[in-house]
Amino acid sequence: MCATALGGSGVLHPSTQKATPPSCQEKGESLADSVQTMSCYSDVLVLRHPQPGAVELAAKHCRKPVISAGDGVGEHPTQALLDIFTIREELGTVNGMTITMVGDLKHGRTVHSLACLLTQYRVSLRYVTPGNLRMPSDVFHFVASKGIKQEEFENIEEALPDTDVLYMTRIQKERFSSIQEYEACFGQFILTPHIMTRAKKKMVVMHPMPRVNEISVEVDSDPRAAYFRQAENGMYIRMALLATVLGRY
Ligand code: ASP
Repeated sequence: MCATALGGSGVLHPSTQKATPPSCQEKGESLADSVQTMSCYSDVLVLRHPQPGAVELAAKHCRKPVISAGDGVGEHPTQALLDIFTIREELGTVNGMTITMVGDLKHGRTVHSLACLLTQYRVSLRYVTPGNLRMPSDVFHFVASKGIKQEEFENIEEALPDTDVLYMTRIQKERFSSIQEYEACFGQFILTPHIMTRAKKKMVVMHPMPRVNEISVEVDSDPRAAYFRQAENGMYIRMALLATVLGRY
């Protein structure tokens, strides 16, 4: 199998002072052309792109399988697969679970994909967000159309007692137009050992990583903290996905 990378900034890296050559995209090549060229050298393409919908567009121009590694604030489907796998590994099943998503649900692509994939199961969803970072209405309406109950809460403590999966996310700094806007939302929801005393004994804390400050490091030693096991599951799920796509299993 051949791996493909699209990138390059044409700027000097401070530690090496070596210039990175500009990528074909920076030279003005269209995404469709880049993808068609890369597919000549690869068996499968894994593409991360800042524009929602770009990966879907790329797949239309590609004669090889394209796996989305995230498209801006759009979706992150392989993360959703590994999240569901982690819930099954940790709790034995997904059906019947109450899943509470916390943080920046507006910009967080992982929660968009996870909420949509969870409609395949009998679950109930809870959202805890700053007022301006709520789950986008298209995702909310899609989930509702599948008959899944969704509730919004103002803080973790209120949502926690019935929660089976607490899915923490960071505030997506890079998605804000000003640092002031970001700082106004930052640090509102931080999971601490004290808050964890209100949680069920059999419950899991998950996070798509990277963590900034939304889970205090003291929570790491709690057996319910599953986020590093979740990260490891990401490797297995993506290995399985590549094997499936390439027909090698
Ligand atoms: N790693 C995840 C993503 O690529 C989550 C995040 O960046 O906050 O979306």
